[in-house]
Amino acid sequence: MENIMLSVKDLKKYFNTSSGTLHAVDNVSFDIQKGTTLGVVGESGCGKSTLGRTVLHLLPATSGQIVFNGRDISKVSKRELHELRKEMQIIFQDPFSSIDPRMSVEQLIAEPLQIHKLARSKDEIRKKVHEVMDIVGLASRLANSYAHELDGGRRQRIGIGRAIILNPSFIVCDEPVSALDVSIQAQILNLMQDLQQERQLTYIFITHNLSVVKHISKDIMVMYLGCTVETCDAKELFKKQYHPYTKALISAIPRTNPDPNHKRILLKGELTSPIDPPDACRFAPRCNYACEECHRRAPALEEVEPGHFVACHRVREINGL
Ligand code: SF4
Repeated sequence: MENIMLSVKDLKKYFNTSSGTLHAVDNVSFDIQKGTTLGVVGESGCGKSTLGRTVLHLLPATSGQIVFNGRDISKVSKRELHELRKEMQIIFQDPFSSIDPRMSVEQLIAEPLQIHKLARSKDEIRKKVHEVMDIVGLASRLANSYAHELDGGRRQRIGIGRAIILNPSFIVCDEPVSALDVSIQAQILNLMQDLQQERQLTYIFITHNLSVVKHISKDIMVMYLGCTVETCDAKELFKKQYHPYTKALISAIPRTNPDPNHKRILLKGELTSPIDPPDACRFAPRCNYACEECHRRAPALEEVEPGHFVACHRVREINGL
């Protein structure tokens, strides 16, 4: 694949806990082309947010390789990391929890410029902030307002403004619309898509909701308990899902035209503990197709169709491939 912005290989992020080693991200690999979006989907606790933070070096990786724009950034000094921050940014789910409530909208959006000393005067900062406010759809009259005076959509526009003011090329979007009403979600998604087109931005878009990433993603990666279980082109995934977990996720999406034959797949069974997990398929306790081998050996990702990878011992049998 050409034009790769980010290439991640065998990334692991483990946490030592009093009960053992928590495998939050286990051997995850992917490439993202410049100017495109990788949607990362899975239930809460599947490691998707940890993955995003580890790629950005907000959390140190346990092992693995991260290549950004052709440069290996797996290990970087504090100074190099400070420089990388201009290129790699994050938008959080709840911008209110990630910002200082005592700062005005103008101060919040200006802060990254000041940290990186990218403006020579107060006038220059002000001019840049107001340009960004205009770009993200915040009226100038809100410059002296505080985040708690604004609705969720406007607060998220502040978060987006803070992310883009340094002109990054890559942004991790961590559940950026999950806390918003559906009508506001569409506005924020449209804004993010417009920004991507205008600025050739590359996104990792993390969400628990597959329908949110349907239109924004070029590729989708489905995660379950720290591992990738299925990944392919986004359109392809909505047409054909091969992993039992992805099938269950897709079946849970509310339909605009209800199909009387549609059956939601309900997942039963205990979640595998992510602490010192056994060498087995982590989905096995909830999988209707689990066999003896599934409890004995973890499945590797296998290319079942060109560009379509699935980690399941029985993928061919279950899907008649
Ligand atoms: Fe189910 Fe086995 Fe496939 Fe895991 S490997 S998804 S348990 S059939």
